[in-house]
Amino acid sequence: MLPGGTVGLIGGGQLGRMFAIAARRMGYRVHTLEPAPDSPAGQISDREISAAYDDLEKLGEFARGVDVVTFEFENISSAALEHVAPLRPVRPRPEVLHICQNRAREKEFLQRHGFPVAGHRVVESAAEAAAEAAAMGFPCVLKTADFGYDGKGQSKLGSAADASEAWTRLGAPRAVLEEWVDFRCEISVVCARDASGRVESFPPSENLHRNHILYRSVAPARVDPSIAREAELLAVRIARALDVVGLLAVEFFVRRDGSLVINELAPRPHNSGHFTFDACATSQFEQQLRAVCGLPLGSPRLLTPAVMVNLLGDAWADGEPDWAALLSDPDVKLHLYGKSEVRPGRKMGHFCVLKPTVEEAVQAAAEAEARLFGRAETLHRA
Ligand code: AMP
Repeated sequence: MLPGGTVGLIGGGQLGRMFAIAARRMGYRVHTLEPAPDSPAGQISDREISAAYDDLEKLGEFARGVDVVTFEFENISSAALEHVAPLRPVRPRPEVLHICQNRAREKEFLQRHGFPVAGHRVVESAAEAAAEAAAMGFPCVLKTADFGYDGKGQSKLGSAADASEAWTRLGAPRAVLEEWVDFRCEISVVCARDASGRVESFPPSENLHRNHILYRSVAPARVDPSIAREAELLAVRIARALDVVGLLAVEFFVRRDGSLVINELAPRPHNSGHFTFDACATSQFEQQLRAVCGLPLGSPRLLTPAVMVNLLGDAWADGEPDWAALLSDPDVKLHLYGKSEVRPGRKMGHFCVLKPTVEEAVQAAAEAEARLFGRAETLHRA
């Protein structure tokens, strides 16, 4: 599907917005289907269809108006994608989403193919969760099987007594109980696979979370080159095993002994890959576009070390952040997602700092954050 064609995007968030920017830059038209009007992606699209993801009539109308369909959001029902698939190519294919949108299915898939995951059990009641947690040992983590993201729908269990409260709080019929991984750091790899099966991987980024939400990504990850290579190799092998056409993001824990454990998969652009927009020859968003349109993939080469810092709604607590102060370093790139409603914890934007070395980028990111909030103590938190 060549430039001039129309890409259909399900989901109107920031991942879709940056995808739409990449698509429009290359001369494609973009139609976005998203329930909320004036969405981040809708603002960049030629057409925004405001409809629920399970509105099959609207989905059909949307699909007939485009040449290929992709998504930026995982919590779309399989039934909705199965409805679209006979009308237009859906990339990645619906089965990939079906596996990755449920932790139990995802872990079963990874384990069946011999990929390293944390020890876990699927549990279906508070009593089962408590018994399995006692057998597994504490601490451990209880996570909903469906619809979890940014740490929502998960609880760390310190003792059997925590299990029933955690189960009630999750309010889900099925959950995955997972061993606690004592990790040195978290890294992730985004790779792209095209329709001919060629795969290109971005270098791993090193990710720091706060309150279960990604706070900062450092690229390249400060890990031994053999660990970085192993992570890329695993991501590429998973993309092949899943038969993905599009993007696959793989999150890893790096254990103290340097071994890797896969935490999660996402068949879409990933927050930890935002650095690629400013720091790589081809961004993850352009790579997604190229893959779903059947074009050759671009080079994922890192042009410069980079640090990406998320801007959550909390940053607006004292009014509009001081953008001019942030941008007084000419190596800082600002991205805002066009969300009018500010809420604590909501991802409103991010900034990226590009420097000749990782150490300089980390230092400059901490200074940029301190300038933005006018608070020197932020330096220490970073
Ligand atoms: P998730 O929603 O599964 O990506 O989890 C969000 C974050 O919680 C991860 O990035 C980790 O920082 C932490 N976490 C999740 N599962 C575990 C685990 N089994 N062991 C240690 N930390 C975890």
